[in-house]
Amino acid sequence: NPFYNLRYYLFSKYDNGIQMDDESWYSVTPEEIATYISTCIPSSSSSTITDAFCGVGGNTIPFSVSCSHVNAIDISSSKLNMAQHNASLYSCKDNITFIESDFLTTTVTSDYVFLSPPWGGSAYKADMNFTLKKWITPDIEEIIKHALTLSHNLIFYLPRNTPIMELIEYLVKYDESTIKENDNTLYVDVRY
Ligand code: ADP
Repeated sequence: NPFYNLRYYLFSKYDNGIQMDDESWYSVTPEEIATYISTCIPSSSSSTITDAFCGVGGNTIPFSVSCSHVNAIDISSSKLNMAQHNASLYSCKDNITFIESDFLTTTVTSDYVFLSPPWGGSAYKADMNFTLKKWITPDIEEIIKHALTLSHNLIFYLPRNTPIMELIEYLVKYDESTIKENDNTLYVDVRY
């Protein structure tokens, strides 16, 4: 496993019995980054968040620490079982609801929706013309359209070669009414 030497970078409590499958080794958000993301959320302690593609819980765990409640959604029951187990190792507050579902059919609303959708391994890095449309599954526009039915505060975790203007194009297209309400302003905060 080429990622084994990164185990503590992915989960500092790896030795306590963290569970990961082959896919998680290369796709889970490293703990330090996930913790950083969780501290960027305004008014997090009084806010609820949905982790739309929670995987084995890399982001769900720090969200559970910083937010009042987390809805952790994944289409795979085995991933959800691992996420639940991993959360227990971090003595997470009893504030996570695990939901086995296709995100595109979920109806639970929250203050924020966090989106770390699958982008398929590490081959994307070599694509000089990376687009969300080409690499993200399910379809990025479907993800955004659906997420906006649940919250207007979206947080994306995306590859560093994402063309930001592509993302903005979809937000302008599908969140028109909110932008109008905000004096024709779309607020976007991008961190590299
Ligand atoms: P994270 O970085 O948040 O740990 P990963 O990138 O490891 O997440 O994994 C993406 C997850 O998305 C996988 O666990 C996969 O089962 C899940 N997934 C894929 N398609 C869907 C879908 N339509 N709805 C919900 N979850 C999905």
